[in-house]
Amino acid sequence: MVVGALGLALAGGVQAADAYPSKPVTLVVPFSAGGPTDVVSRALGQAMARELGQSVVVENRLGAGGTVAAAFVARAQPDGYTILIHHNGMATAPALYKKLSYSPLKDFEYVGQVADVPMTLLGRKDLPPANAAELVKYVSQNKDKVSLANAGLGAVSQLCGLLFEEAVNVKMTSVPYQGTGPAMTALLGGQVDLLCDQTTSTLPHINASRVKLYGVTTPNRIKALPNAPTLQEGGLKGFSMKVWHGVYAPKGTPPAVVARLTKALQQALKDPVVAKRLDDLGAEIVPADKQTPEGLKTWLKAESEKWQPLLKTMKLEAD
Ligand code: ASP
Repeated sequence: MVVGALGLALAGGVQAADAYPSKPVTLVVPFSAGGPTDVVSRALGQAMARELGQSVVVENRLGAGGTVAAAFVARAQPDGYTILIHHNGMATAPALYKKLSYSPLKDFEYVGQVADVPMTLLGRKDLPPANAAELVKYVSQNKDKVSLANAGLGAVSQLCGLLFEEAVNVKMTSVPYQGTGPAMTALLGGQVDLLCDQTTSTLPHINASRVKLYGVTTPNRIKALPNAPTLQEGGLKGFSMKVWHGVYAPKGTPPAVVARLTKALQQALKDPVVAKRLDDLGAEIVPADKQTPEGLKTWLKAESEKWQPLLKTMKLEAD
């Protein structure tokens, strides 16, 4: 009996959504452990677990500027047990990868946005320039002898590096890693000269003077580093970049499950422990209207329209 079978199938779906989650949820992180995306994910995951009554297991799936993880989640079972956290890379990857196996705007359900994070342009501790103005002169004189670390094509560190290269009109030598974790280790060890990355993992190193800070990437100074000049103050006109984060589920995840995840995300962002942790790291929780599926999707679309044409003109494509 077709109607009966359909009725049963629907009842099964409702029941599944009602019972969700009945086992741990995997939160896939596209970059290495200890990096900025990982730090935000772990704070968020722990609080979401409290809301969901199930553990949230952070799984770092590295490679290709975050596209390996996004492709993995796009193909995962759409049951709410495999979800993705990602940053601006969701908006930029289609302009950077010729053979992207997923569409950020078509192959996901949108849970909501999380937090915005400023970036910092750092040098190894013994890099000669003392400030942004001196750095501009230094890179103009040393050009491709200057090395610039990043977390892969499509990583925000790479995007920030590109903006810096554009601003000073110098091509440096890029050195890709699989996340800020190893890129920062290389900077601390003096194997690379520069790295532009989020305060969520750079702050402790800045505060302990283990690196040289040349400026923050936002148009205004930030609360977490009140004495640090912006790169604009340092003479890099119009330099502006911040990192945003969203949580995604595979396309076809039942609406009730997505709604449950959105609620858990919203509750997690109200958790004082999470709020303090993110605040201490210079991150700013997004307003409530962005912590929604619509808020994320609208933002992703706007960011895609902003960055993709620009990146295409730079002809940076990978296979
Ligand atoms: N911050 C890195 C990026 O440049 C990724 C990370 O390790 O979180 O995209």
